Amino acid sequence: MTGPVIMESTIVCPECGGRSTETMPINACRFFYRCPHCKAMLQPNPGDCCVFCSFGDVQCPPKQAEGGSGCC
Ligand SMILES: [Zn+2]
Repeated sequence: MTGPVIMESTIVCPECGGRSTETMPINACRFFYRCPHCKAMLQPNPGDCCVFCSFGDVQCPPKQAEGGSGCC
């Protein structure tokens, strides 16, 4: 499946509930993300490769390309 890859993901902070839309790197995972609202340093949940997969509304581009079956 090779649909268009979505490059933006809205992260919902688990600490404060703040939402922020971020542009994802096309070919890399983002392991650390600092919430712009409460300054909490987020890390992926166990089993997830990046903060977008854990807290975003869209999975990271590598995972989208693989149809949701693992990445990185
Ligand atoms: Zn926050």
